[in-house]
This record gives sequence, structure tokens and C-alpha cells, in this order.
Amino acid sequence: MAEESAAPLESPPDAPRAKHLRPGDGPTTVPARIVNEVLYCERLAYLEWVQGEWADNAFTEEGRWAHRRADAGGGGLPEQDDARPYVARSVWLSSDALGIAAKIDVVEGEGERVFPIEYKRGTPPDVPEGAHLPERAQLCAQVLLLREHGFQCDEAALYFAGARRRVRITIDEALIAATLEAVATAKAFADRTAAPPPLVDSPKCDGCSLVGICLPDETQALREPVDEPRPLRRLHPARDDRKPVYVQEQGARVGLDGEQLVVRRKDGKDSARLVETSHLALFGNVQLSAQAMRTLAERDIPVLLFTYGGWFVGRVVGPERARTSSCASPSTGRRTTTRSVCGSRAR
Ligand code: SF4
Repeated sequence: MAEESAAPLESPPDAPRAKHLRPGDGPTTVPARIVNEVLYCERLAYLEWVQGEWADNAFTEEGRWAHRRADAGGGGLPEQDDARPYVARSVWLSSDALGIAAKIDVVEGEGERVFPIEYKRGTPPDVPEGAHLPERAQLCAQVLLLREHGFQCDEAALYFAGARRRVRITIDEALIAATLEAVATAKAFADRTAAPPPLVDSPKCDGCSLVGICLPDETQALREPVDEPRPLRRLHPARDDRKPVYVQEQGARVGLDGEQLVVRRKDGKDSARLVETSHLALFGNVQLSAQAMRTLAERDIPVLLFTYGGWFVGRVVGPERARTSSCASPSTGRRTTTRSVCGSRAR
């Protein structure tokens, strides 16, 4: 983490994404990113900053993509007596007095007057303040740092990459107070020996990349034993341990032997257990016995048919998949349609 120094400042060569803290550690500077997370969810901030946990999801990947230009660096804050306009990217600042450190995505400036911009994924929310409190507080922390380093900074903006739009954010006393309170909360983490409790039934958990580590509903269920077990939300897709079986050798024959699929080839045979098969994909001139096809449909294991070259031709699905599938008859929904071959050409 960057230490306090006078501007101009350089980026640390490899700034850590998360910092492991031990009880009693401190004082320390709080990254502006953690200020954001404290206000989103204190448990998330604790897991990332104190315990050093990290996991990616689609949102974090999208955010990294949105930051690619700003993260490329370039430019730099000028000497204080240089009045020419400039743009600096990935500017690191910190202050022991404020207890904050930040990497500012972009700083536009002219002389001592500067305008920081924080890049965000997605589109701006439809709220009067222009953005939610966590993002505004992260930006406010950057404004406070720039002021602490002698710059004049009255305005700032969030750039939403999904909309390619800048949203100006007002830095008022209420936002400054919320930001400094979040900094104090984060600093108090150093004296905690356990993570804050998870949010309860919060929609925030759906988009949280640490949901698989935090386990909010499971943790909550253990914290509050109830007479009747309550259903847990599925926040993570279930793991499917089954694997597909691909048969590409021309002339091969697929049959059934008890609980196994048997693939007979000219020079030998292979087998796959039905319980470990997610679907069967047949390419070109591969034969499937009627007995095997019926059993696969009954077990709801789809059979996908491809040409020799890999073009999709059709599929055979069982009752459960056909019920939710677009190839079931919308007018009748009859189960008789469920064992039919649903042909469609994707050429
Ligand atoms: S899953 Fe929910 S409770 Fe857990 S860290 Fe994320 S937002 Fe917080």
C-alpha cells in the first residue's frame, strides 16, 4: 500500500488487491475501494481486506475490462508550479492524516485545480445523486486525498463504461461524513477477530463475487437455529459432476449393458456409466440402439445429433427437459411430444 508522500506520486509496482491484517495491526491507511465495500457490505469489506479473500464473477471481470484504459497508466501529476492542462492515469495517493489510500483512475487538471474520474462498469443508476452511496464515497475519498495533497478539487465524476457517460458527483458535507465514517469502520476491523455477520436476504448477495466464500444464507441459518428448516436461496449454480460422452468415430455403435453405455468401435470398445453421463453427442454415422435411446430418454439424458463436420442436427430429450424445452408442443404440451426427436438446423 502506498505511503504518504508529496506529489507528484508514482504507482507502486504491484499494488496488492487485498491486505491480510491481524488483530492489533494498525494504524493503517484504508484503500478507497474498501470504503466502497464497507458501505456496500461490511462483511464483504472484512473478507477482502482483513482475510485477503478474493473471487471473480462476471461483474468483477466486467469492471476490470472497463478499467483497462485507466489501468494502463500514463501521464502523472505535474509539479505544483506547472499550469499546463494534463491528464494522469492510475495515480496513487495516500495520507496518514486521513487514513486513506487510493488509486485514482484518471485525474484531469490544470495547475492546482484537478478533476478526478473513477471508472465503473455498467450504466448509471436512476437515483437523484447520480450514483449509489458506496461509489460516491469511494470518489469522495479520492477528492479528500487530492485536497490533502494541496490540490484544489471541487468536483468529481464517475464514468460508467456501459453507457459511456460521465456522471458528476456533488461532494458535500454529508458525503464527506459518510466517507470518513466508513474509513473509521474499516480501521476498526483490525481489532475484530471475526467477520461481521452476513446480510439477511439481501439482493446485494446475488451480485457479490464472494458469495461462495461468505455463504450468507448458510451462515445465517447456523447463527439462528429455527424449529423448521427454512429454504436456502440458490445463489450459486449447483455443481454437475456428470460428464458428456462424445462419439466421433464413424461406424461406431452405442448400446446399453446394464447401467453402462457401451461404445463399440472397430478396434475395441469403451463404456460410460449412465449416472455419470450428462449427455450423449453423436457425430455423423454413429448408431444408437433403440434400447439405449429409450433408457437415455427415461433418465433425462439428452442425445445430441451432429453431422460428421459438427453441424447440429437435432436432439432427443426426456420428459423433464421437454417440459421446459422450446421443442415441446406449446399448444398441447402432451408428453407424447417429449420423446420425439426435435429437429432443428443451425446452418
Ligand atoms: S454474499 Fe452478501 S453478505 Fe456475503 S459478503 Fe457478499 S454482500 Fe455481504
